[in-house]
Amino acid sequence: MPILTVRNPATGAAVAELPVDDAASTARKAQAARAAQPAWAATPLRERLAAIERFRAALVAQTDTLAATLTNEVGKPITQARNELNGLLPRIDFFAAHAADAIAEQTVFDDAGMRERIGHAPLGVVANISAWNYPYFVGCNVIVPALLTGNAVLYKPSEFAALTGLHIARLLHEAGVPGDVMVPLVGGGETGAALLAQRIDGLFFTGSHATGVRIAQALAARLVKLQLELGGKDPTYVRADADAKAAAESLADGAMYNTGQSCCSVERIYVHESLHDAFVERFVATVEGFKVGDPTAADTYIGAITRAPQLAVLDAQVADAVAKGARLLTGGRRLPGPGNWYAPTVFTQVDHTMELMREESFGPIIGIQKVRSDDEAVALMNDTRYGLTAGVYTRSEATARELLARVNAGSVYWNCCDRVSPRLPWSGVGDSGIGLTLSVDGIRTFTRPKAWHLRQP
Ligand code: NAD
Repeated sequence: MPILTVRNPATGAAVAELPVDDAASTARKAQAARAAQPAWAATPLRERLAAIERFRAALVAQTDTLAATLTNEVGKPITQARNELNGLLPRIDFFAAHAADAIAEQTVFDDAGMRERIGHAPLGVVANISAWNYPYFVGCNVIVPALLTGNAVLYKPSEFAALTGLHIARLLHEAGVPGDVMVPLVGGGETGAALLAQRIDGLFFTGSHATGVRIAQALAARLVKLQLELGGKDPTYVRADADAKAAAESLADGAMYNTGQSCCSVERIYVHESLHDAFVERFVATVEGFKVGDPTAADTYIGAITRAPQLAVLDAQVADAVAKGARLLTGGRRLPGPGNWYAPTVFTQVDHTMELMREESFGPIIGIQKVRSDDEAVALMNDTRYGLTAGVYTRSEATARELLARVNAGSVYWNCCDRVSPRLPWSGVGDSGIGLTLSVDGIRTFTRPKAWHLRQP
């Protein structure tokens, strides 16, 4: 049986060896999930809710060990690992509070012996192929509402967060979700491809655009419900009337938190020429104040780059930007190993001929471009194939709303960034994906509507 070696990206050390699911074990697990799903769907919602409540309690009780595992395999600073676990709780609370209403059957017509009702049936067996950068968030955005609405879940966590994925599955099993209803699969792209070959009723994916396209192609002939939550090149505009210092501090955090490895990290900044220099000075000072290093230290802010190949992507974006005339203010290089390290990097004098301003960096690196007007900023923000989030910093809510209404993005921010709410739908425009998670719609997305036509005899 093939083996997955889990490595600590901060040290390069092997952390664990896990047996990988091959085509045969993936098929066995998918068949078992198919057989187990009807009984889970028939389990009263209050029992499914009780299991999720026990899962939540276990997350709280085991935060220290779960955060340590996450830091160990992803290189995420320990404080940010704990933040992710704590941030998961309000998401679970939202799903638990709204599941009953979201799937309640509703009468929409009742006249002369004829009744019409809308119900919400589970999709059946859904697959979740997931990213590593926020494994608790992206995993549970699917797993929790899918289970609450009566689905069985075949869950393939990223090979770079496999131990965390196995923790999530273990905690759900201990909380009372049957092993054949919540089914983890260990492995990389091959295991993911084996999963796609199974009979599934929905595929919920979080990851890169390139893999998302491959998955859509693999499923195209089978008309399986497909959701893709993909990358971004998220822009923010700092308007002439903004508070330069506050905006710089907020955006430095938005660009560098999680070592810049967030789908909604700030990836491009446009600053009005009137406050450009003041903004840049404060931005660089803030970035240079971030502590880089040992992810297990509580005050570390910048951790390791999780995937070693990403270092070459960052090197190439830096070289391209320098060659095309960008000005490097700090960073711009790898840091010594062992492990995968990149210095927080800030460029000015950038433009859209540079890869840095066009393609997802997914690392602690940012370009700041000077603009002369609101219209120029909006045009530049929309000059992208992606559309996950976008923001504007200004004193005027009316102006922010007017500008953001013109920006193509699933989430828009006024005076904030890098923010996700369980109450709001999380979705992308263009190459950032299709479908949504979170919000009440992100519960219903794991169901199909069922139309009841009921005539009294
Ligand atoms: P990735 O595309 O490399 O991998 C994602 C998952 O797909 C992994 O589990 C991987 O094993 C699997 N996979 C790879 N090849 C496959 C194949 N041929 N068939 C089936 N499965 C396959 O992405 P990643 O490096 O894990 O994650 C980073 C990306 O995810 C970034 O682009 C980031 O922006 C994006 N992301 C998006 C969101 C969002 O909500 N929109 C959230 C987090 C991350």
